[in-house]
Amino acid sequence: MAKLHFYYSTMNAGKTTTLLQANHNYRERGMHTFLLTPDLNKRDGENQIKSRVGLQAPAYAFSKKENIYETVFLHHKQQSIDCVFVDEAQFLSKNQVYQLTEVVDRLNIPVLAYGLRNDFQGEPFEGSCYLLNWAESLTEIKTICHCGKKATQVLRVDQNGRPIAKGSQIEIGGNDRYVAVCRVHFKKRDTGPLFIPQMQLDIQTTQKA
Ligand SMILES: [Zn+2]
Repeated sequence: MAKLHFYYSTMNAGKTTTLLQANHNYRERGMHTFLLTPDLNKRDGENQIKSRVGLQAPAYAFSKKENIYETVFLHHKQQSIDCVFVDEAQFLSKNQVYQLTEVVDRLNIPVLAYGLRNDFQGEPFEGSCYLLNWAESLTEIKTICHCGKKATQVLRVDQNGRPIAKGSQIEIGGNDRYVAVCRVHFKKRDTGPLFIPQMQLDIQTTQKA
């Protein structure tokens, strides 16, 4: 029986690389896969899932209001699908996660969704929340903090390495970067030694202002 799988982690844990590798393994066996990515992830009109290590694959970009079950169903009628992959699954709505359960339960197609568990303010993403609730299979893709402990949180930093406290949950293609940290260093907003010079500079500037 098909299952809904959720692979979750903080930033920079290699989720997209893991997705693309799993997709490659399916395709190598002559199976047909269908890759989904939120359309907010689209750059320059391209529908590609790209990992930081250089792997990429064409994907279908879905909108926020789209019924994903219908989309998969229509493609499945044209070309039988053996497995569905979802990148950036944290951006799914509650309804869309439900629709993925329908892909599994009604079409008997396994769904592998990959996403962030929580945002840079420590808040849960809607998509991840319901995937954690409804998926049969949960797998954490682990990464570590600069202190060596397991990273469970993510800090957003600007181009000067300053941690950002507020802002939109969705930030794609900006200059901001993300640093995976443990909960202790998340509370201290400590991104690690790499960013200390910039942070001190920032504190001095703020004090003057
Ligand atoms: Zn730490």
